[in-house]
Amino acid sequence: MLELKGIAVSNGIALAKAYCLIEPDLSFSRVEVSNTESENTRFKNAVATSKLELQEICEMARHKFGEEKAAIFSAHLLLLEDPEMLSAIEVKINEGINAEYALHEVSSMFIAMFESMDNDYMRERAADIRDVAKRILAHLLGVTIPDYSRLTTDVIIVAEDLTPSMTAQLDTRYVKGFITDIGGRTSHSAILARTMEIPAVVGTKTATKTIKHGAPVIVDGTNGTIIMNATEELSQYYINQQEAHEKEKRDLAQYRFLESKSADGYTVEIGGNIGKPEDVDTVVTNGGDGIGLFRTEFLYMDRQELPNEEEQFAVYRAVLEKMHDKPTVVRTLDIGGDKNLPYLKLAPEMNPFLGYRAIRLCLDQQEIFRTQLRALLRASMFGNLKIMFPMIATVEEFRAAKALLLEEQQNLKNEGFAVSGTIEVGMMIEIPSAAIIADLFAKEADFFSIGTNDLIQYTLATDRMNENVSYLYQPYHPAVLRLIKTVIDAAHSQGKWVGMCGEMAGDEIAIPILLALGLDEFSMNASAILKTRAQITKLSREPLMEHIEHIMMLSTAEDVEHYVRNHLVVYHQ
Ligand code: PEP
Ligand code: MG
Repeated sequence: MLELKGIAVSNGIALAKAYCLIEPDLSFSRVEVSNTESENTRFKNAVATSKLELQEICEMARHKFGEEKAAIFSAHLLLLEDPEMLSAIEVKINEGINAEYALHEVSSMFIAMFESMDNDYMRERAADIRDVAKRILAHLLGVTIPDYSRLTTDVIIVAEDLTPSMTAQLDTRYVKGFITDIGGRTSHSAILARTMEIPAVVGTKTATKTIKHGAPVIVDGTNGTIIMNATEELSQYYINQQEAHEKEKRDLAQYRFLESKSADGYTVEIGGNIGKPEDVDTVVTNGGDGIGLFRTEFLYMDRQELPNEEEQFAVYRAVLEKMHDKPTVVRTLDIGGDKNLPYLKLAPEMNPFLGYRAIRLCLDQQEIFRTQLRALLRASMFGNLKIMFPMIATVEEFRAAKALLLEEQQNLKNEGFAVSGTIEVGMMIEIPSAAIIADLFAKEADFFSIGTNDLIQYTLATDRMNENVSYLYQPYHPAVLRLIKTVIDAAHSQGKWVGMCGEMAGDEIAIPILLALGLDEFSMNASAILKTRAQITKLSREPLMEHIEHIMMLSTAEDVEHYVRNHLVVYHQ
């Protein structure tokens, strides 16, 4: 038996076999071969096996994810039949070079050729060749490449990290939990795990080194514990815990149709955060009052090119229609940080979280931004749309973004499109500069949504992805609380509303403080909505407000947590 500790990021218990996603060792060297005939046969066999494998993946992708995903693999299949590339490799083998090296030489030449082309489509083919060559090489070396999209039994994924696009592809029918070496509570893979309601523990540092592929594993996503090869007694304990967790979920269902109102009648809004249009369903089934954050960047991920206006329009329209006039806050593209779009070919940066991202990129690459704005404006006729801009640091940025929005609104009208006249335009507050001058922003923005995931990392200068400094990632740090108070007060003094869509909005210690401070909207993972409503229903705002002055004078995050636990009611089922 082996026990590991990590950061608990998505509640619940999972028991299944470990599926280790470890980059395989595909190293090889150049070897002279004398029997070129058998070397050619070896190569042809590797190609044939790759083909069979790809046909299977292609079918599976078509079935699970639709035609668009399947097309990626169809393109790979075509490459396996490309006579130019195959015969060039054969020529090399006939010169007496081993198949691995011949494949490497020829594929590198083709990759370089495609990469130097002027045309985006052709440049993207280089990535396809790299993928296909890797697959053939793995077969030549007899190495298995892990492929999590082809699972057929229940597993717990173990990986160094999971990129947002990898996480989004996970088939929840079989993935019962996941464990990573790196990451923190607000890394995007953790957020997605919560959206998908999969128990997850991240930041274990050593999981990939200590957990064996295929070993029985227990993930306790509530306490951050991982157990490999548990005793029967311990397994039974966790099965009971799992049942208790399921029961808690069932009990919370009673709050689904209740108003989000404190015991003394103060009404707030509890919304859900979504990344993909399908996530709307979980917000609705969990009784969300609206959508407080639609992270639209996920529409741009895991594909080969930018989504066009029509495609985006269809998605935004579908989301708005499903929400039936409930407030739906859509955030414009927030790419960068840990959310990359390989096809944009952005230069690598030393500090991606402080770099060319989100609104900075959108104001620079205006065509991308304008396309999204047009799609959103056209969709505005189908629901209660509010638009907000991410990562605003200066008033000029907000003005520039809003000006483009108004320009596109006018363009659409000139083209004969209808656009709603009541769209609120707000901004995320996730950079301390914006929080500090919230009074100035409040004169121009219709609303704020506090993005504590980033606000905390920028306020404490602590990377939200880095488990080595996660002790500094402190939501209850006095500086964070004071910034939040500044933002809420500034907005209210101008008659504007304030939401919070960072993870802190669903945190049971933060909730009584936020309620007392007057936060109007709490937006969170759908799985946290009912628990938050249950907690708020039991809290009375007036008496909580009497503690605020004292809380704002506490020196440390620990003092705050202690004080809330001792003096403010924290909901426990
Ligand atoms: C935030 O920063 O709090 C936020 C909600 O945005 P994201 O987590 O997508 O960076
Ligand atoms: Mg953010």
